[in-house]
Amino acid sequence: MKPITVFLLFATIAITSLAQNGSVKEIDSAFTQLYKTNRFNGTVLYAEKGKVLYKKAFGVTDYRTNQSLTTQSSFNLASVTKQFICMCIMKLQEKGQLQFDDDVKKYIPELPYDNISVRNLMTHTSGIPEYFDVFTRYRGSLDTLTNEMMIQQFAQYKPALDFATGTKWNYCNTNYVLLASIIERVSKESIKDFIHKHITGPLGMNDTYVYTDIMPSVPANHVYGFSEGNGKRVLNDLTNLDGVVGDGNLYSSVEDLFKWDQSLYTEKLVNKATLEQAFKPVHLKNNSTYPYGFGWFIDKENERYTHTGGWAGFRNIICRDVKNKRTLIVLSSGDNTLGVQAAKAIFHNSAVNIPVTFLISNIKLIDGTGVPARNASVRIEDNTILAVGDLKPFEGEQVIDGNGKVLAPGFIDTHSHLEGSLSKYPEAIAALNQGITTIVAGQDGESDPVDSIKAELERVPAAINVATYTGHTTIREMVMGADNLGRPATAAELEKMKILLKAELQKGSLGLSSGLEYEGAFYSNRDEIIQLAKTTAEQKGRYISHIRSEDITMADAVDEIINIGREAKLPVQISHIKIALKDDWGTASDLLAQLQNARAQGIDITADCYPYEFWNSTLRVLFPKKDFTSIDGANFAVDHLFDPEGSVLVRFAADTTYKGKTIAAVAKLRNETPAQTLMYLIAASAAYEKLHPGVDAETVMGKSMSDDDVSKFLSWQHTNICSDGALGGHPRAYGAFTRVLGKYVRDKKIMSLEIAINKMTALSAEHVGIKDRGIIAAGYYADLVLFDPATVKDNASIDSPKALSDGILKVWVNGILVYDNKQSTQKFPGEFIERVQREE
Ligand SMILES: [Zn+2]
Repeated sequence: MKPITVFLLFATIAITSLAQNGSVKEIDSAFTQLYKTNRFNGTVLYAEKGKVLYKKAFGVTDYRTNQSLTTQSSFNLASVTKQFICMCIMKLQEKGQLQFDDDVKKYIPELPYDNISVRNLMTHTSGIPEYFDVFTRYRGSLDTLTNEMMIQQFAQYKPALDFATGTKWNYCNTNYVLLASIIERVSKESIKDFIHKHITGPLGMNDTYVYTDIMPSVPANHVYGFSEGNGKRVLNDLTNLDGVVGDGNLYSSVEDLFKWDQSLYTEKLVNKATLEQAFKPVHLKNNSTYPYGFGWFIDKENERYTHTGGWAGFRNIICRDVKNKRTLIVLSSGDNTLGVQAAKAIFHNSAVNIPVTFLISNIKLIDGTGVPARNASVRIEDNTILAVGDLKPFEGEQVIDGNGKVLAPGFIDTHSHLEGSLSKYPEAIAALNQGITTIVAGQDGESDPVDSIKAELERVPAAINVATYTGHTTIREMVMGADNLGRPATAAELEKMKILLKAELQKGSLGLSSGLEYEGAFYSNRDEIIQLAKTTAEQKGRYISHIRSEDITMADAVDEIINIGREAKLPVQISHIKIALKDDWGTASDLLAQLQNARAQGIDITADCYPYEFWNSTLRVLFPKKDFTSIDGANFAVDHLFDPEGSVLVRFAADTTYKGKTIAAVAKLRNETPAQTLMYLIAASAAYEKLHPGVDAETVMGKSMSDDDVSKFLSWQHTNICSDGALGGHPRAYGAFTRVLGKYVRDKKIMSLEIAINKMTALSAEHVGIKDRGIIAAGYYADLVLFDPATVKDNASIDSPKALSDGILKVWVNGILVYDNKQSTQKFPGEFIERVQREE
């Protein structure tokens, strides 16, 4: 038990002699503030040179009875128990009843390990594995674990050592449960009686006792553990692991612990020579040492020693500065660690950092999960949501009045091309004006390396978060060369690509992206992608794809991505799902049925979708056979793939006077058919690009979708919303999400607002593997958007692609307000988001 928060203390912090009053003031101010803001319920004692300068109790022993705490209230010490267990062993050693270097088997012969000494247990160097997992695996549902049961389980199941004994230090509670049993077997007394007789009795520690879940009565000054969630407290006291003693389950008060601390300057319990061993770093087999003694962390030898204890709803710390004879003890119930953190800071003479909170109240909360909107307030602490519910403001806390509008999680754009412009426009207004707080880059097979994205975010911090996929085309180019992509990769090339991909995935890329319709990837074969997808699956990443065709051979392209999901066994997502072949308009339901069928076979296939009937790309995608000089191909494009009247050239470097005109208008100017014009535009651009390498000479906004299909795709329960936006051109870069909220949800009512928000937040996070974002709940990052559902609306259009949306009132990223009243606040708290391990 007691998986203490193993923090290693920093020996580098300079210790200066303390101004007494400064310290006391600082302690009082920190713990008073924490208590007033509901983040501390406990007791504090501070002493110098044997004199108590400060002691105070804040809060209650039991939130159900509201009985006040006193400095004599007894808390479960959790891992602070361990120093007492070691003292018992030292007593037995002094009495000659055991030696530190005795083989544990001498006392516990049923233990299935050889050559582990008592000292190995005391110093966490045994290599014995943690008992929680063993117990959880083999327990009966009603069992409460005791020391003897634990020993029995180890004897029976013989779990392997985590490392060879003595070669490493690794904090492990099993060691201390075994020690307690050794004490009982050697002394023939219960651990409870032994501690009382040899330690707490002689020292007059009357508030200190062993208590476990199997004991019949609860002592009077006993504190109950709890957890605090969403403004409410719930019991979080002992569990069915708590029949054991040794690693925890000694109860004590700050006053008693002060007596204990003072006794360690004397020979009341054991003699000086024995005691000194408790405060020496453990020696490992490779001649190195680790700063842990007998139940104490050694912060700095001969100066500072500490130990924390955290278990269920208890958080404690004891700090001893033996050089300056200072003692700081904090015992608390609740699962908030800020009290312990404050104690560490005070003890190290570093600044106490109490994170500021603020409250957003008077809102309709739509939390991202899809459940109906509800009235609630949300409290933010630092970059995190601290609580959600019926919350009252703390004294002096900032309150933001939501005026009854909707608060939702910040939107996650699973297919974005904004990343390239963030260095120039770190305010990311294109994203923020539509409520997007996280963009997923590296799309359509093209990506920047994780390292360079991170470095760039450090050089120029951005207002929004960025995650990325790793592009198939990008690694293809690196291995095969940019001019050599018109064929499948060879086996040797594929191996090199796998190595590059794996390295990126290990750096936090979400997975593999492809843009198979584009020439850089079009000539790859199915096997090339499957093999790379398998590498991705091994790293628990995902696959996202602009599939090989969105028009004439779309059926084959859909079959390919389903097959990738089946063969490589990883989640696959179709990017910006659409039906671009005019002949197939109106068949969205058939395609969705096919995807649903694949899901029924266990393939995790999903899609993202942007809410427009026109796309933004190169004219070359209108030639599915890549026959750019064929008039038949051009005629086919005009007849089946797009509408020349509704498709606008947004860039044409070879003749900028054509910019902004439709293909039909350009044809008229040139006295050609639209098909002839199409061929001319591509040829002229190819010539231009040859003269200006690296320049994209043309971009078209092509109208080729039906609104009915778009509505169906948006509505599919496994579709999340994306923008596919890039700066310059298509209005989706500024208006995709607000267009869904305005046009499709409020006006066309194709789905409820709650479901639409889910498709912009939690579902999106799930589809791309982003953790702890996309839901408004305690512990999630505070990415938030406040908007007015009655007025929210996109204003960006082909003529005015950068017009800001209406109705997006405020946006927070990582707890910082970044967008307010249609303006950047010039704050840049965006982070790089790494992939989390996908659960199997
Ligand atoms: Zn794409």
